[in-house]
Amino acid sequence: MSLMETMSPPRDLVRVLVVEDDVGISSQVTAGLRREGFETEAVATGAAAIEALSLFDVVLLDLGLPDRDGVEVCRELRARSDVPILVITARGEERDRVLALDLGADDYLVKPFGFAELTARIRAVLRRSSPDVTGVMRCGGLVVDERSRHVLLDGQEVAVTGREFDILATLAADAGRVVSREEIFSRVWDEHWYGPTKVLDVHIAALRRKLGDPGLIETVYGRGFRLRQSS
Ligand code: CA
Repeated sequence: MSLMETMSPPRDLVRVLVVEDDVGISSQVTAGLRREGFETEAVATGAAAIEALSLFDVVLLDLGLPDRDGVEVCRELRARSDVPILVITARGEERDRVLALDLGADDYLVKPFGFAELTARIRAVLRRSSPDVTGVMRCGGLVVDERSRHVLLDGQEVAVTGREFDILATLAADAGRVVSREEIFSRVWDEHWYGPTKVLDVHIAALRRKLGDPGLIETVYGRGFRLRQSS
C-alpha cells in the first residue's frame, strides 16, 4: 500500500467491468478487485461488454474474445463512451495492443500481470480521466497538482518545465514503485520514442537539483526510477 495520499474517488463507487472469457482469470481478477474495494462484474463476450458498458467506470478488456475481435470491441466501446479502457493482451500480440491504443484504449497490460500492477494501472487511468476530482498527489512535503500543473515542496513552489512535471507526476502517481525507463518514455513522450534515452537522465538530474534532495528520486540500477516514499 502506497503511503501516497492520492485523492482518488471513493473506492466503493468505482465499478470495474472485466471482459474476459477465461473463467480462471476473470474470477481471480474480480475476487481481487472486490478485496480492494472495487465493485466489479465479469462478462465473457464483446457483445455483453457493449451492453453492460454504461454501468461501469473502467473497462478491463481482454483482446482475445470468443465472439468478436477484441480490437473491434475496443473501437465500439470508445465510440459509445469515454470510459477508461485498459486492454489485456497475451505476449506476442504487440500489433493488437498498438491498434487498441490507437483506437482509444487508455493503457494495456500483458498477461501474466501482477495484481498490484493491475490496481496501479486502474487508479492511474481513473486519475487521468477525472483530473478535477483526483490529480493532487502528496508524498511527504511534496505536492504534485495535475490540475494546475504546480509542484510544491514544503509549501514552496518549485518551477519545473512541462516535461519535468510529467516525469515527476508519473513517479508520484505510485510513490515507492519502480517505474521503468520504458514506461516513463511511453507516458511522457510517446509509445514509439526512438530518440536518445539520455534525455531522460538529463531531466531527472534537473528535477533532483530543483527539488534540492537528490535522494527523493531514486535510481534503481537496471530497472528504472522511483519516488522515495515519505516515512
Ligand atoms: Ca481470452
